[in-house]
Amino acid sequence: MTADHAALWQRDGRAGLHDVLAREWDVLVIGGGISGAGVLLEAARRGLRALLVERRDFAWGTSSRSSKLVHGGLRYLKGGHLRLTAESVREREMLLRAAPGLVEPQGFAFAQYMGARGRRSFLTGLALYDAMAHRREPHWLAADDFLLAAPNVKRDGLAGGIVYTDARTDDARLVLRVLREALGHGAAAVNHLGARELVRAGGRVCGATLACADDGATYTVRARVVVDATGAWSGALHGQGPRLRPLRGSHLILPAWRLPLARAVSLMHPHDGRPVFAYPWEGATLVGTTDLDHEDGMEREPRITRAEVDYLMAALRAQFPHLQLTDDDVVSTYAGVRPVIAGKEGGAPSQEGREHVAWSADGLVAIAGGKLTTFRTIALDALRLVKPQLPGWDDPLDACPVFAPAPLPAVPIEVDGGMLRRLHGRYGACAAALLDAAQPGELERIPGTETAWAELRWAARSEAVLHLDDLLLRRTRLGLLLRDGGAAHLARIRAICQPELGWDDVHWAREETAYRTHWTLHHSLPNED
Ligand SMILES: Cc1cc2nc3c(=O)[nH]c(=O)nc-3n(C[C@H](O)[C@H](O)[C@H](O)COP(=O)(O)OP(=O)(O)OC[C@H]3O[C@@H](n4cnc5c(N)ncnc54)[C@H](O)[C@@H]3O)c2cc1C
Repeated sequence: MTADHAALWQRDGRAGLHDVLAREWDVLVIGGGISGAGVLLEAARRGLRALLVERRDFAWGTSSRSSKLVHGGLRYLKGGHLRLTAESVREREMLLRAAPGLVEPQGFAFAQYMGARGRRSFLTGLALYDAMAHRREPHWLAADDFLLAAPNVKRDGLAGGIVYTDARTDDARLVLRVLREALGHGAAAVNHLGARELVRAGGRVCGATLACADDGATYTVRARVVVDATGAWSGALHGQGPRLRPLRGSHLILPAWRLPLARAVSLMHPHDGRPVFAYPWEGATLVGTTDLDHEDGMEREPRITRAEVDYLMAALRAQFPHLQLTDDDVVSTYAGVRPVIAGKEGGAPSQEGREHVAWSADGLVAIAGGKLTTFRTIALDALRLVKPQLPGWDDPLDACPVFAPAPLPAVPIEVDGGMLRRLHGRYGACAAALLDAAQPGELERIPGTETAWAELRWAARSEAVLHLDDLLLRRTRLGLLLRDGGAAHLARIRAICQPELGWDDVHWAREETAYRTHWTLHHSLPNED
């Protein structure tokens, strides 16, 4: 395997993959989603030599396919999950302070119609939610005021509505920011390199054999402790741990001009009373989500089904009847699988708890379940189980700010306040280098999105991009935000990125074909189930 087949991301660049894999590590983290990235960061900042391997791309799994909310989870309150909600609210507040521009407040609006029940319990839940965040806000708006907050909702029978605030993010960029922070503490991370088997000596796990997804070449890497952070794939390497119930959730993306929203609108689905939402995200409108047993197996990439499209479109038509939305308005789709710990046999998917679990065996720690929002808590719980397995390492494991403060970069005149906040939040200390790398015209936004062209150049240059879908689906989200996966912009994307990636024309053409096929299979509207 050449160093180019698996992209190594470390402080000193991507040279030296062989040397890195030959070292003995304190902690080997398997899985490059938010949980693995969190463990890598919390381990590295506490002086451990930590390496992460991801068999596809960073954030390829559930962590790029979530609803992208950094939230307390109001509905978990209803289920009595007070600890999870309080923990999530605390982490939400921490992330809002730590990464403005990446984690932003998101207003929600919930319309109440004549005769509907549940207003009192919703408001009681919100009072508790506020108390957890040490704030107090008015939550009830009369119909006229509510229509100013959510102008496009159905007016017939509107009694008023409830408003509250949570937060949103770009999930894949959150993973990237956490990984970048870990690299700053001396960690290394390699994508497109999967763990095939755990290595044991005297009954104790002491490393893993790794295989490159592209050419099948293998390595053995040694580590004092291995952390399984493979999310919905948890247990595949060792067959241990709690039983997972894979639950699929799917989303639609519509152009903002077809479903313009000032706030997120949440509603109870007219068919089954489940909560569904639509909210402004990255210059488009995101609609989600479903919650179904995922029966396709974990080796096939999930995709939305025709029935899920119909279900989400039915919710939109009920809540925004006069917009007359149709399938033609859908720009893209995506589906992810929740790594949920199975509860009682036969329980409804939405009733399953969202708590995480961590457990350990000799030389092995595994984590599963949980939420994007609580990644720091999950990481610290994993390290509490790592600690007894690393004699001599005695960190108190107190929570500390997730990102070191990064200075605001000096900005060229064409960069407005919104763009500066975005770049600073997403790229932290690297924002200055991104701005320096930008060529004339590249600090403009790509039409229909909030992404600057310069973000593409920066990702291609320095963010371990190995395939075109890494660049268009996770480093940037253009493949979700633009019609046909951004086909109309591919010529300019190529002009910017091909030289940075060092791909010749044949390589680019191969990647483009693979990307278009992948996009059609996994992100377009399905015709039938
Ligand atoms: C539809 C949906 C909506 C959600 N919405 C929210 C939300 O709004 N807010 C929130 O807080 N949470 C949300 N969640 C939950 C959240 O997204 C997940 O809890 C979180 O992303 C899980 O992260 P993870 O790192 O554990 O798993 P993943 O992100 O799936 O990462 C696991 C990684 O391990 C890799 N892997 C697997 N096997 C191997 C191997 N052998 N070797 C190397 N790598 C391997 C996979 O490729 C994958 O990238 C949502 C989940 C879903 C499905």
